[in-house]
Amino acid sequence: DILVNQIAAGEVVERPASVLKEVLENALDAGARAIDVQLEQGGVRRIRVADDGWGIERDDLALALERHATSKIATLDDLEQVGTMGFRGEALAAIAAVARLTLTSRAEGSAHAWRIDGTDRSLAPAALNQGTVVDVAELFYSTPARRKFLKSEATEYAHCDEVFRRVALARPDIGLQLAHNGRVVHRLPTGDPLRRVAALMGDDFLQHARSLDADAGPLRLAGFAALPAYSRTSRDAQYLFVNGRFVRDKLLTHAVRQAYADILHGSRHPAYVLFLELDPAGVDVNVHPAKIEVRFREPRAVHQFVFHALTRSLAASGA
Ligand code: ADP
Ligand code: MG
Repeated sequence: DILVNQIAAGEVVERPASVLKEVLENALDAGARAIDVQLEQGGVRRIRVADDGWGIERDDLALALERHATSKIATLDDLEQVGTMGFRGEALAAIAAVARLTLTSRAEGSAHAWRIDGTDRSLAPAALNQGTVVDVAELFYSTPARRKFLKSEATEYAHCDEVFRRVALARPDIGLQLAHNGRVVHRLPTGDPLRRVAALMGDDFLQHARSLDADAGPLRLAGFAALPAYSRTSRDAQYLFVNGRFVRDKLLTHAVRQAYADILHGSRHPAYVLFLELDPAGVDVNVHPAKIEVRFREPRAVHQFVFHALTRSLAASGA
């Protein structure tokens, strides 16, 4: 069973950033208002995420580490299929299979916290305010072949930072902090979404960006799109969210690039933070951990809407 978990882990856990993404999403799912992230050595040595969400009851701690959908990976062929269906209920089990995981949690109304050791599944009382601390140490210690594929500390850290930024941009309503090797890198208080964008993208971006908020029927596009003066030669400031979830989507990216086509030349890339909202029934979010894709029921309408909303906004700016 450990082997099966390790195979599954290969799909879910590619590098520290994929662990961080899963653990952050769990904290959000638990209704956290504040999340504290501590990384050591790019997250390879340690990823520790503390949240103030509703926590996990003592008797549910062991369950949280169980692989729920056992039948999905009965064969190697099934792995592909599982991938397209997402890994609901698999993340913690997968992480526990390839790292030293401990889960400490105090559920609402409990007298104290409990800690479970992901390796031997032993339970012990612990001290903690309400919420959960997920501690993931020595990633891939049990699978040296995987560990070999990790890049430098700086690169792994950069991927973690990117995962953190995506969550932070999408959720200005939540207080977030990130420290790397004991040094606080991001300290993001709750509040004004504009302040959040400024903190993560820089005042410079905001000064050179147009804000937009357009809607057409069930579609709404809000956010910030930088004027050509702020364009980049590297592709590092493109943030698209669909219903609050960061996505990398060909159709949307194409619509955005098309809107910039007449004003942005050469090899320069636009910078933007855009939030597309639509009826959840109109979009299929593929939750494969490695991809972040969406499928629209009416791709043409979405493309046109995004293109026109952005074109109008950029033109109104006098760009
Ligand atoms: P999934 O999120 O798909 O349910 P996971 O393996 O990521 O699967 O998590 C397993 C379960 O552990 C979750 O369903 C949830 O009940 C619990 N859990 C994990 N992290 C937290 C957290 N930070 N706060 C509260 N519950 C959590
Ligand atoms: Mg999860």
